[in-house]
Amino acid sequence: MKDKNNFDAIIVGSGAIGLSIAFELIKNNLNIALVSPRSGEGIASLAAGAMIDAFGEIEYLESDIERQRLRMEVKAQRRYPSWLKEIAERSGREVFHRQGIFIVSNNGGEHDVTKMNLMREQMSAFGEDFEEVEPKEIPGLKPNYLFRAQDAMLMKSGMSVDTTQLLPALEEALEKSDRCTRIDDRVTSVDPEGDIWKVKTVNNGTLLTEKAIVCAGAHTFKIIGEELRVKATLPKLYFGRGTSITVINGPDLPYCVRTPNRALACGIHLVPRHGNRIYLGATNLFGTDYNQLPTGPTCGEVHTLFEAIMSELHTGLRNVCIDYISWGLRPISQFNYPMAGATHLPGLFIATGTHRTGVHLSPVIAEFTAAEVLGKTLSEENIFSPQKPYPGETDVDIALGIRSLLATALFPNGRLPYNRMVELETFMTEIFKLAVKGEQDETRDRLRQVLQDVPLSEQGILRAYHEVLEKFVPQDGPYPT
Ligand SMILES: Cc1cc2nc3c(=O)[nH]c(=O)nc-3n(C[C@H](O)[C@H](O)[C@H](O)COP(=O)(O)OP(=O)(O)OC[C@H]3O[C@@H](n4cnc5c(N)ncnc54)[C@H](O)[C@@H]3O)c2cc1C
Repeated sequence: MKDKNNFDAIIVGSGAIGLSIAFELIKNNLNIALVSPRSGEGIASLAAGAMIDAFGEIEYLESDIERQRLRMEVKAQRRYPSWLKEIAERSGREVFHRQGIFIVSNNGGEHDVTKMNLMREQMSAFGEDFEEVEPKEIPGLKPNYLFRAQDAMLMKSGMSVDTTQLLPALEEALEKSDRCTRIDDRVTSVDPEGDIWKVKTVNNGTLLTEKAIVCAGAHTFKIIGEELRVKATLPKLYFGRGTSITVINGPDLPYCVRTPNRALACGIHLVPRHGNRIYLGATNLFGTDYNQLPTGPTCGEVHTLFEAIMSELHTGLRNVCIDYISWGLRPISQFNYPMAGATHLPGLFIATGTHRTGVHLSPVIAEFTAAEVLGKTLSEENIFSPQKPYPGETDVDIALGIRSLLATALFPNGRLPYNRMVELETFMTEIFKLAVKGEQDETRDRLRQVLQDVPLSEQGILRAYHEVLEKFVPQDGPYPT
């Protein structure tokens, strides 16, 4: 190992984000240390599908911030094929991926058809190729008749990548360079002392650097600590726990097949993987309490996922063998927006908050973060800068929050009789508007306090929901997965 004072920068975390930043920095001849445990348990990047799918992810596009983010996702998606090629060249390892994603709408999602029309509009606006297809001609799609597809298309610019090969390939590329020192250890804290950052580890003592880059996914702020978070005026960080299942020797699946997004997750999807495997994803349970985390996938999550996947995508999977089950914590910032680059504290950089698009955004986040570490001028504004205030739009946030809550509550079947879904959505939207804008009383105060704590109501509303459940539903009662 190099002298512990000899690193130009230290990166904490070796998920898709940490490895991509490290890859970018060694290409720019920086001597770095990458500190992170090598074990894969609970890592979001390994549990991810991972779809690189700017248009399939579109939900509403009602605010400028959503439109900006879409532009960045399109940029990352266009960059991916050459990025994978570069990784293959430097590592000597090909990464399994598939270009093209089928998306289908059905009765499982109240807003599926609207979302698909918005996707068509945006793919046309960005000049991206797509093709309308007959659902019954999609290989790998065989739903229960109650979930017969209404509408389908092949999004040619979307792709999926096997992260169980991407992460090892990035590790290998780093190993082959003499600029990266890989330290298999856990970091307990990152603290400033003058111009220097002290990176404390469990087994390797304290490492020193002028530039600390913390990208430990949902654990990032546990390492930085609350005091520094507040000092750097960074938003809070929460998580969306996700479970996915990989099966082996299933039906033929040349391309990923997915539904539009629901319940804060990336819809449900089947993704082709190396070695004749198929990835089934994914659940998403929003959480704020790091002390009460299950230590693995729960039976409820697995049940929910199988129920949804077999009903909506392929009934025949019941006869197929499970290869393994993965889980991970998606890092979600208070504003549900990624943060990447220099903080207000000189020498402290972070890259996290990527929620369900971290693998997708990795090349762009790495480019922004590395440029700021290197002090280079960026080719365009870093819209993910942690120094940028978030311009919230309350009505949009409330609409998104209520839809996410309903989708969560209705998952996996998504059914309410008559037009109850629309009634419920309208009712809850109005209640939350009242909470934000109405006069004071105890309930409104409580709701306001929750929304103030988690101002993006996509999370705030889900948090209020979980708090009420925790308080009023008995321990052994029904609990959402
Ligand atoms: C089920 C599921 C499906 C998903 N699907 C998609 C998808 O289709 N497309 C997409 O783009 N994204 C998807 N995502 C989201 C994506 O996985 C995340 O946004 C992204 O992987 C976050 O990467 P990360 O490197 O920040 O975090 P992680 O991948 O969680 O990595 C965190 C790293 O930090 C390390 N670490 C943690 N604590 C410490 C410590 N104390 N000291 C040192 N190191 C530490 C860990 O060991 C790990 O290496 C999905 C996520 C899940 C869970």
